[in-house]
Amino acid sequence: MNENDIVKTDFLVIGSGIAGLQFAIEVSKIGKVVIVTKQKIFDSNTELAQGGIAAAIDETDSFESHIEDTYKASVGLGHKSVIEEIVSSAPNIIENMIQMGVKFNTKNGKKISISNLALAKEGGHSRKRIIYVEDFTGREIEQQMIEIVRKNPNIKIYENHMTVDLITQHHIKGNGQFLPGITCWGAYVLDIQNGKVKRFLANKTLLATGGCGQIYYYTTNSETATGDGIAMAYRAGARIANMEFIQFHPTTLYQPDSQRAFLISEAVRGEGAILRLPDHSEFMKEYHPMENLAPRDVVSQAIDFEMVKNGYKFVYLDLTHLNPEKMIARFPQIYKKCIENGFDFTKDMIPVVPAAHYTCGGILSNTDGETDIKNLYACGETACIGLHGANRLASNSLLEGAVTSNNAAKLPQNIEKIKFPNIPKWSEENIFDENEWVVISHNKSTLREMMWNYVGIIRSNRRLQYASERIRIFYREIEEFYQKNPVRRDLIEARNLATTAYLIIRSAIMRKESRGLHFNRNYPEKKKEFEKDTII
Ligand SMILES: Cc1cc2nc3c(=O)[nH]c(=O)nc-3n(C[C@H](O)[C@H](O)[C@H](O)COP(=O)(O)OP(=O)(O)OC[C@H]3O[C@@H](n4cnc5c(N)ncnc54)[C@H](O)[C@@H]3O)c2cc1C
Repeated sequence: MNENDIVKTDFLVIGSGIAGLQFAIEVSKIGKVVIVTKQKIFDSNTELAQGGIAAAIDETDSFESHIEDTYKASVGLGHKSVIEEIVSSAPNIIENMIQMGVKFNTKNGKKISISNLALAKEGGHSRKRIIYVEDFTGREIEQQMIEIVRKNPNIKIYENHMTVDLITQHHIKGNGQFLPGITCWGAYVLDIQNGKVKRFLANKTLLATGGCGQIYYYTTNSETATGDGIAMAYRAGARIANMEFIQFHPTTLYQPDSQRAFLISEAVRGEGAILRLPDHSEFMKEYHPMENLAPRDVVSQAIDFEMVKNGYKFVYLDLTHLNPEKMIARFPQIYKKCIENGFDFTKDMIPVVPAAHYTCGGILSNTDGETDIKNLYACGETACIGLHGANRLASNSLLEGAVTSNNAAKLPQNIEKIKFPNIPKWSEENIFDENEWVVISHNKSTLREMMWNYVGIIRSNRRLQYASERIRIFYREIEEFYQKNPVRRDLIEARNLATTAYLIIRSAIMRKESRGLHFNRNYPEKKKEFEKDTII
């Protein structure tokens, strides 16, 4: 083996959001850790999270109530034992974050402790149970964790490095393919700045690569969210579940020319903001008894119905009746962004539209992050553990990422040292730059538009059929290009987006009913026979 292009470690962590960092911090107590992350370490969806983390810690609250709300939001598909485990781990994980230095808002501005945390309300929650840091909870958690990771001598960080593929039997010539089961020995990793691909080998590999919001034209997600982990695990032979359930957040700032949709947190409606049509009438009463705080699937579908029916480009979110000083203090980031766009939310209503926000499906895993592939874990948004079912309850995802990666880090098998087979170098045989990169940029943007129009909030058999035919063409063109050209970030992402789009379309076609986030006009009702996960 030529050792020059090999990085060997005990734990390879792919991704530096909440799931990757939590795992890295814990396993660094028993071994050497390498984190690879495709941009700067803080670039992630975690960094963008505004609202907070759900935990039943108030004396008037209970695990039972949080479990019931989560299950209700999942429209019958949440796995009860999984929900129970995640919900009941919440207080410990919050305590852990306080120990890490996360400065959550407190009830009275006094000393931080779990019994003194301020609590907010969000859609689908029957009570106030969201723990937060103003409207930048994710940024604060990410910062504290990064500080710990940077100081840790057992952790090495590779920024601007992205995985091309997991290393499994598929890559081993000769007898490798006959090894029983599928085992992961690490990943091929591209140094984005110099274009070289290296072998990163590890006893255990964690996929913490987040979701795939970038598959849609309008999304709140970071540009890093291109479904890389899901696509890599699928190519390696892991099962993928529930990809039809993409959560569209009901309220993002209407900015038609912006690359990324800016989120107006659900906590704003939790404080009393009201959705209105352009004629200022309220409409959520007609859709759900919880009105403006109905679960996200209901609110997004209601807004989409009203926009399509009446040809509106947006609806309004109205805070003008609420205490202006209190709202500015509670949502400083949102206030600043609205002002930059010409809206003072204390006087003007905010124009809002839905945008792709959260991937409920992903790599089939358990609450310890274990997947179908030996030595490969998946945690956070890239995984599907059965917590969210057909719809995620607000603020349950930071919680899921932290709990599952913490569990994975504590598994007894983590101390095993594995024997590595002879793993070939990244091959560049028959590769030359055709200088036709327009194929990739064009395919990527048309794919995102196609997914928005045909596989968005409202779907139909005809739209899904069109999407299915088109995705085969995208996939073929991108794959042909990939076989002939040197790997680059945009090519790897286009390939992963095409694979993930295919998984979403196929899952949506398989589910011949409407449930939670998946609404098909040809099957507008729920059906008993589909009260199960979609597994590919
Ligand atoms: C605007 C917004 C607001 C939100 N608000 C909340 C909230 O209030 N509460 C809540 O619970 N949830 C919220 N969410 C959802 C939540 O933020 C995410 O689900 C969660 O942060 C996901 O964490 P993660 O660690 O799984 O992934 P991420 O935080 O997305 O991290 C993924 C990491 O993987 C890296 N990566 C991806 N592919 C590769 C590759 N091929 N090679 C190397 N690195 C790679 C990325 O660069 C990134 O570092 C929000 C999401 C958004 C977008």
